[in-house]
Amino acid sequence: MPNLSQEIYDVTIMGTGPAGLTAAIYTGRADLKTVMFEGDLPGGQLTQTSEVENYPGFERGIVGMNLINEMREQARRFGSEIHFAMIKDVDFSQRPFTVNLDDGTSFKTHTFIIASGASPRKLGLEGESLLWGNGVSSCATCDGFFFKDQEIVVVGGGDSAMEEATFLTKFASKVTIVHRRDDLRASKIMQDRALKNPKIEWKYSHVITAVHGNKQDGVTSLTLKNTKTDEEYEFPTNGLFLGIGHTPNTSIFGEELEMDDEGYIKTAPDSTKTNIPGVFAVGDVQDKVYRQAITAAGTGCMGALEAEHYLAELFDGEAAAE
Ligand code: NAP
Repeated sequence: MPNLSQEIYDVTIMGTGPAGLTAAIYTGRADLKTVMFEGDLPGGQLTQTSEVENYPGFERGIVGMNLINEMREQARRFGSEIHFAMIKDVDFSQRPFTVNLDDGTSFKTHTFIIASGASPRKLGLEGESLLWGNGVSSCATCDGFFFKDQEIVVVGGGDSAMEEATFLTKFASKVTIVHRRDDLRASKIMQDRALKNPKIEWKYSHVITAVHGNKQDGVTSLTLKNTKTDEEYEFPTNGLFLGIGHTPNTSIFGEELEMDDEGYIKTAPDSTKTNIPGVFAVGDVQDKVYRQAITAAGTGCMGALEAEHYLAELFDGEAAAE
């Protein structure tokens, strides 16, 4: 159980990816009493990538996990508490807000910054969950190495699928992209890169209806269905990589927090403010367009500054009332 202080926190941050950690660096430096929670993927999606080559300041790139560790230590240096615990829910109906953890602990906070990110979408097939980590993956950079000289299927028609498939050709003997439509959603540059790659084959207008294999041998084949002819057939493969988008991690929040149809938190234009004063959303949980570590960090900074302004007004108001 985390050793939470009995004091009221100024800032609570849910999530420790680049968005949450940047927010913590700023609120810590502003001398605000800050606590963060790691959630079920400490460090967020960046910890699932290998080399990050487009984060400014690292001429030769940096391993994702190392970048997160640097940010985490930077946040700690400015006094942020970081705990491994899951937030169960937050009561926004009374101020200060009450944060309830899975282990039964509760504490109070004046502001709440949601930086819980987004998780890879799944197909929802039985074999997919059974063989997760045993041939089924959503992270080419983490698991591609295990498929040296083997055949792999990547599902999806967006930038993620193109990027994963192209990356996987470094290891695999053949990569087949299975996409449910005839048209790719991916940007032209990413499409072209994949289309030009001789190791990539294509199955347009196809869906995966079953994943076969066992824990010992991993994935052995998929059942594919041609959506134009309805023909179903078995397709041998050694691995399945998912590139079908992401779902924002917002399921613990209720209707009091405004979200769009996909569950992304709505924020005011040019701001991280949600519809609840004192609650801010930063990073991929409110951004389905850019989704980059640097943009997540940027909105983390915005959220921290907005929380700081909110607290200054709150404390000024309380002082005036005394
Ligand atoms: P996306 O653009 O939402 O594409 C998801 C793809 O998966 C679509 O082709 C979609 O098919 C397919 N799909 C979704 N659910 C499916 C299901 N249940 N079964 C089969 N197929 C399914 O997601 P993304 O590729 O992760 O990209 C998200 C954002 O990140 C985009 O803005 C993208 O540009 C950006 N991104 C950029 C880079 C880069 O620049 N390096 C890399 C990765 C991502 P439909 O097309 O039929 O809907």
